[in-house]
Amino acid sequence: DDRWYNGSMSANHYDDSLDAEATFHRLDGTFRRGVTRPLRWRRAQLDAMERMLREQGARLARAVHDDFGKPTTETMLMEINLTLEEIRFVRPRLARWAARRPKPMHWLLQPAAGWTVAEPKGVALVIAPWNYPVLLSLEPMVDAIAAGDCVCLKPSELSPKTSRALMTLIDRYLDRRAFAVVQGGARETGELLKQPFDHIFYTGGGKVGRIVMEAAAKHLTPVTLELGGKSPVFVDGTANLDVAARRIAWGRFVNAGQTCVAPDYVLATPDIADDLAERIAKAAYRMFGNVGGRRDAVMYDSGPVAVAGRHYGRRESVAFGRVVSDDRRRTDDGYAHDYDDVHVTADDSSTTRDWTNSGRPGNRQTYGRDDHMTYDDTHDSRIVWSSSYARIINDRHYDRLMSLMPNSDDPSSAAHIICGGYGDRASRHIAPTVLTHVSPDAPVMQEEIFGPILPILTVADADAAIAFINDRPRPLACYVFSRSTIVRRRFERETSSGALGFNLPLGHLMSSRLPFGGVGASGMGAYHGYAGFLEFSHVKTVVAKPTFPDTLSLIYPPYTKRKRTL
Ligand code: NAD
Repeated sequence: DDRWYNGSMSANHYDDSLDAEATFHRLDGTFRRGVTRPLRWRRAQLDAMERMLREQGARLARAVHDDFGKPTTETMLMEINLTLEEIRFVRPRLARWAARRPKPMHWLLQPAAGWTVAEPKGVALVIAPWNYPVLLSLEPMVDAIAAGDCVCLKPSELSPKTSRALMTLIDRYLDRRAFAVVQGGARETGELLKQPFDHIFYTGGGKVGRIVMEAAAKHLTPVTLELGGKSPVFVDGTANLDVAARRIAWGRFVNAGQTCVAPDYVLATPDIADDLAERIAKAAYRMFGNVGGRRDAVMYDSGPVAVAGRHYGRRESVAFGRVVSDDRRRTDDGYAHDYDDVHVTADDSSTTRDWTNSGRPGNRQTYGRDDHMTYDDTHDSRIVWSSSYARIINDRHYDRLMSLMPNSDDPSSAAHIICGGYGDRASRHIAPTVLTHVSPDAPVMQEEIFGPILPILTVADADAAIAFINDRPRPLACYVFSRSTIVRRRFERETSSGALGFNLPLGHLMSSRLPFGGVGASGMGAYHGYAGFLEFSHVKTVVAKPTFPDTLSLIYPPYTKRKRTL
């Protein structure tokens, strides 16, 4: 049953066609009957989800891999495990979170009692994106279940295999009365958004975030918006450059850069900018450059790159560009021990497809304006990318990302490609790309990159970096690599972002104890742990006062002089 797969049809648990209103009313009815309120029920659902992830985690990871080549280990580590940890954190605490909290009352009202109690909001709509399709669907659901809400999940149409697996498994493991999974894209989401949900939890880009908030306004539905943005990294001369390079490379290139809190660009001081760029390229190569355990596939003289190259002979079939000269030699055993140059111009991705087809061994090419690229010898006839490296989600994003590469025909673009700069449209891989000498006006600096491209800009010092960041919309995360406590404190006090990481990209999203969310253009509201429980709850104030004696008469009118002095 692949009908919804091509985007034209939708389904929930019970129908083939989406009836948003019926889906909402079904869940609303469940909520009104009080099915989801007992803590016992909530714990049972969390248990069921834990069981689902333990028994079916590998299946979900395979679905994510089928959708865009994300390594299954990565999904287990960063999606399945994080969701399990959230469940294990939330479950033993939810009784305490949901319990009454007594609050002292004003003396004029005495004797009286006051307390707060967290009640479930009702039916929540969770709209999830494709980039961490399991985590960003299930983690909000965990918090909503803890709060006692019913959930309608709308996973992304761009990761259809995962979305379908989620639908099947949620249907099988969780209480069907309280959950629905709706498949579809903009149209189906639009239908859902017409319903009077009690909360909308949206993760994705800011453009759709605005659509969601506008629709929510019609029903005064509260929203959580988990958006993105250009998250900066500042690195100065005091930093441990090797560690900084490794962590930045990991944060940027994991999931092929399709991570909302990934370092989007680096602001480096001039003393270390070039050195840092080389080290990031090397670190990327070590992480993503191996092919079937081998790490010798493609090298640049100016630094290694993270893609396996298989190059075969004829000029016209060279990937990444046009051959302009070719004086290669081969050694007897067919391996390229003896490297000679094959010169290739940069960025002609139109020849990529040819390259994957045919040919005989080539040894080494020179690629790009001043970079030298080395291939190992060839064993088969296609590009082999590291199995630790994800693909780009679809052609539209692939083309968008390739258009951000510096253009060698454009003399105004002074950017240097330290590594990468090319991709393979057939498989939708883009090599980890590090750029230096990038201007703030370059296309790559205008929008969130959301792919494996890392521009490095030079700034004079921390002052200039802080001014640069504060001149732009508030990002989802900001990272600082510096040994100076003064510099770190200044970033904490003088910049605003969803989160701030010292020497640590991405780390803040991995703890259920830390609220996760954006600010300004990067979103509103937060979740994970207690923050998530609160987001899906209404904290109700309750007061109570005995009727006898009626001490409130102290403040009843008429207002005598004595009452004025109370
Ligand atoms: P996406 O394309 O999967 O869209 C997100 C959701 O919105 C999907 O469920 C989609 O069906 C729905 N949608 C798309 N168009 C719509 C429309 N016109 N009307 C109503 N709904 C619509 O994901 P995306 O937007 O490409 O995600 C990438 C963005 O998400 C990036 O900006 C990234 O930074 C951000 N993001 C943020 C977080 C976070 O936790 N803050 C996490 C992941 C991604």
